[in-house]
Amino acid sequence: MRVPLLQGDSFPEGELPHKQNYLARMELNRQNRLATGPLSERFPQVSGIMISMTYYQKGVNPVLMLRTIHLLPSDSAYFNMECMIKGCVDGGFDLTPVVTNMVKARKKTGKGRIECLGKTENHTGDHASVEYEIGIRYERSR
Ligand SMILES: [Zn+2]
Repeated sequence: MRVPLLQGDSFPEGELPHKQNYLARMELNRQNRLATGPLSERFPQVSGIMISMTYYQKGVNPVLMLRTIHLLPSDSAYFNMECMIKGCVDGGFDLTPVVTNMVKARKKTGKGRIECLGKTENHTGDHASVEYEIGIRYERSR
C-alpha cells in the first residue's frame, strides 16, 4: 500500500526540519497572543504592568539579555517569552501564573526566577533561565 505522506520525505539531516519546527512554534505563539484578550479584560483592576527580565543561557556562548516591557490595559495579557536556544522544544518562560497570583493578592512588586523546561538536543537540564521583576499598578478603588 502506498503511503503518500512518506513519499519524498527525505529531508537532509540538518536545518530544514528545525527551521520548520521553529516557524510552526512562532506561528503558534502568534496565535496564542492574538487569542489572548486585552489586559483590561483579564485584569480590569490593573492599570499597568512593568516586567523586566534577564535572560541567561548555558553553553559555549552564554547569552545575557535584558528586556523590559510595559503593558497597558489595551495590550494583550500575554506573558510568555520564548526560549532562545535553537531547537528547544516546548520551552519558554510563562509568567502568566506569577502575574495572576500577584493580581489576586494585589501585590505591587514581585521577583523570581524561571527555568526553561524545554527539551533540546545539545543542552541538558537547566539550559536557560529568566530572572524577572514585576511591577503592577492598580486602579484606585473608588
Ligand atoms: Zn529552552
